[in-house]
Amino acid sequence: MNRLKVLLASSEVAPFAKTGGLADVAGSLPLAFEKLGVDVRVIMPKYICVKIKGDETVIGGGIKVYFVVNDAYFNRKELYGDKFGDYHDNLERFAFFSKEVLARCKEEDFSPDIIHCNDWQSALVPVYLNTLYKYDRFFSKTRVLFTIHNMAYQGVFSKEEFPKIGLDRALFNINYFEFYDKVNLMKAALVYSDAISTVSPTYAKEILSEEFGCGLEGALKTREDVLYGILNGIDYNLWNPEKDSKIFKRYSLANIDDKYVNKEALQRQAGFKIDREIPLVGIISRLADQKGLDLLVKIIDDLLNLKLQFILLGTGENKYHLLLEKVAKAHQKNASINLKFDATLAQKIYASSDIFLIPSRYEPCGLGQMISFKYGTIPVARQTGGLKDSVSEFDPKTGTGNGFTFEEYRAERFFSEIKNALSVYKNRDVWMELVKKVMALDFSWEASAKEYVKLYTKIIQQ
Ligand code: ADP
Repeated sequence: MNRLKVLLASSEVAPFAKTGGLADVAGSLPLAFEKLGVDVRVIMPKYICVKIKGDETVIGGGIKVYFVVNDAYFNRKELYGDKFGDYHDNLERFAFFSKEVLARCKEEDFSPDIIHCNDWQSALVPVYLNTLYKYDRFFSKTRVLFTIHNMAYQGVFSKEEFPKIGLDRALFNINYFEFYDKVNLMKAALVYSDAISTVSPTYAKEILSEEFGCGLEGALKTREDVLYGILNGIDYNLWNPEKDSKIFKRYSLANIDDKYVNKEALQRQAGFKIDREIPLVGIISRLADQKGLDLLVKIIDDLLNLKLQFILLGTGENKYHLLLEKVAKAHQKNASINLKFDATLAQKIYASSDIFLIPSRYEPCGLGQMISFKYGTIPVARQTGGLKDSVSEFDPKTGTGNGFTFEEYRAERFFSEIKNALSVYKNRDVWMELVKKVMALDFSWEASAKEYVKLYTKIIQQ
């Protein structure tokens, strides 16, 4: 077979532009594809934050990244909106981007086997491909995989905006774009893509239900035969206590004791009592209902009355800022509340904590648990989405499992699992075996990239 040709279309790609996990996926996957011999290229809008001259650059060993340039649309500070809300012309902006994805393929004389689109911002690519370019031989072999990173963001606009998409008005109907009298870009992508995937096997099943489907469960069900779930990975060049220059002292499985040098240093920085024995519990999260913050605030006083130290890093909804500021005042001795975005502190927390909390209400994939593992920090995670696919209940008797889990979305269950973790923590030998075990787990991109290549091949052969 000829070399597989893939174009990854994404509205954000690390390190050029990032607001969330999508950027990490779009930045890391191509590097892993390259190692597998795929001819992969990437395309994204050129925002102000993209500090590259011209309209293309190269990453990895020679992966082309194409930038879609349009100053009126993309030469802005933020990607999707500012403090006043979403940009009013987002539909136009990303309809333009999606059209340019296909136009650029022709300009570059690159006819991909697969265009891999991501989220609503590139949802119109499969639509244009199967309408405007339907009879264009240049794309006769091109297939589309559409990946959903979070069902909650679908690209919904008022129906008056439909003409801006530039397609036949008849497509504004219930089988294509129409969604409760509005335009829904993701819905159309579900119809026009050759296959659909999301970022974990469990989330792929969950989104077929009313609880997780955010109104598109019906549309997804009609495509269930081509719906897949592939777990994201993390980049071990970035997330690795052996290489991490931001932590207090580097460590690895061979000198695990140095993890506790980090712990003492963070205890000092946080103004806590310096004592390796006291369990240090961390959480790094957007402060949002999705992340289970409501469970945390319900138990936080009880939690902080236990013999432990607690460090939180996060920003988000104002109600949580206010609640957590109170917590900080009430528990000065053993709570460090950091209401900001701080990548360096995040790395220190991953390295220094014993236990990491992830009580998400829903979680398409989740990175915190994978990062924690690599740093020998044990997650207490709710069993949902990607958390269910990566964290399993530890059994001290048999040594199976890699963390502490709860299923029911209830504060009591969350609290009892934390207490369960704390009781295992007391048994030093068992705990250290668990720490060593999770540090050796492999959640790298290589495995995910292979799964994607398998899926691309399947789509092409369909
Ligand atoms: P989501 O993308 O839904 O927020 P993920 O678990 O996929 O959740 O990714 C979140 C990433 O952002 C993690 O790497 C986490 O460490 C990081 N992060 C979240 N909040 C902060 C913060 N306040 N400061 C630094 N890093 C943060």
